[in-house]
Amino acid sequence: MLQLYNTLTGEQEKFEPLEEGKVRFYSCGPTVYDYFHIGNARPFIVFDALRRYLEFKGYEVEFTQNVTDLDDKIIDRAEEKDVEPEELAKKYAEAYFEDLDKLGVKEADYVPRVTEYVEQIIEHVSALVDKGYGYEVEGDVYFRVREFSDYGKLSGRSIDDLKSGARVEVDAKKEDPLDFALWKSSDPDEPGWDSPWGRGRPGWHIECSVMAQTTLGETIDIHAGGHDLVFPHHENEIAQSEGRTGKQFCRYWIHNGLLEFEGEKMSKSLGNFEYAREVLDNYDRETVRYFYFSTHYRKPLNFSEKNLKDARSAVDRVYEFLRTVEDLDAEPENSESPLTDSGKELQDRIETARDRFEEEMDKDFNTPGGLGVIFDLVKQANKFRDEGKNENSYLLKEAKREVQKLAEPLGLFQGREEPSASGMEEGLVELLLEVRNSLRDKQDWELADRIRSELEEIGIEVKDQEGETTWSVDRN
Ligand SMILES: [Zn+2]
Repeated sequence: MLQLYNTLTGEQEKFEPLEEGKVRFYSCGPTVYDYFHIGNARPFIVFDALRRYLEFKGYEVEFTQNVTDLDDKIIDRAEEKDVEPEELAKKYAEAYFEDLDKLGVKEADYVPRVTEYVEQIIEHVSALVDKGYGYEVEGDVYFRVREFSDYGKLSGRSIDDLKSGARVEVDAKKEDPLDFALWKSSDPDEPGWDSPWGRGRPGWHIECSVMAQTTLGETIDIHAGGHDLVFPHHENEIAQSEGRTGKQFCRYWIHNGLLEFEGEKMSKSLGNFEYAREVLDNYDRETVRYFYFSTHYRKPLNFSEKNLKDARSAVDRVYEFLRTVEDLDAEPENSESPLTDSGKELQDRIETARDRFEEEMDKDFNTPGGLGVIFDLVKQANKFRDEGKNENSYLLKEAKREVQKLAEPLGLFQGREEPSASGMEEGLVELLLEVRNSLRDKQDWELADRIRSELEEIGIEVKDQEGETTWSVDRN
């Protein structure tokens, strides 16, 4: 029985959807003003796998992941780049879908975009105003947090704690500094829609409430997102949704831990981050996915070259096994030869693998534990194979089938797609650069330059800086 840690109660709980056998699942999508980075990628990958794991367990899952294609960040970035906000949002929305596809993330059942839901948002805000939760000031509409007595229940803090803990700007227009915008008035040069409060656009939080409830219903089972969204985003989503319906908005709030970059907080302003698409230039998708699953989703995860290389070796080990099995001759499924001890052991592992896998995964979606079961199976299969008793090789084929079946919800071991530079190519490039350096030491500039230009011809850019040579795959 699946247990999930619910941020709302602060406990690991038995997962029971509202309607038996059916799960309504919402996960916060991107604001499309840039490519997404490896920190943003964590919830996309982890919740894609959670959705698939629920299906693996037999649930019917309805999954929504929105695209915020209208936001102040988009407006600001568009102004910097001197393009229309719609154009910028369109470009990065396309890139988002491309990158998700490269990461092996399955498309959501519903992919609502804010600009297509403005009418429903206006309706929702009007309802909140009618109920006394919303108030208008000069074309802006705010949510009155003091009116919603459950405010703070997700972050587990009272309104007064939140006020002293969070940096909330004092705004003369608001009754309370924690009140947040449901609707913002737009300047003539900003995108805007006509509304009962004049021309304007939705606030960020209201978008998710409306898109979640319109696609999945008033009460949903799972709402997921990064831990940094608990307050204020998700706290506000609860206030707006429950303020309107008087019903529980979401039963299980699931949050992933944040990603650190080489041991430090990731920050665009410090430049210590990497776009997901850059990582995919050097590592295949399964390596990247494995990297995210190798740590429990609620724990912080450190992004480093070393961790990615470790992930690649782990994935390589499984593929090595899968390949040796593929190379086996067709053997009868039932062999007459008695099984050796390690054969019996392997048979036992195969038979119990699914139960052990689910037992691990059911502990709050413990992917490292689930991967442990898969690796254990591979290890035992390798041991059996190394004994050379190929007359019972049908067992190895069964082990292979089981490995691929269990790893399916994780999107692993289903057949590898190579990145632009695979492990072997990487080794070859490095070898060539070593040769080039020796040539340069011997002052054979002509041949050294030829290696460089030939590499560039096939899309590998070589840079010499401060006595060090680095290279990268040129994506253009
Ligand atoms: Zn959201």
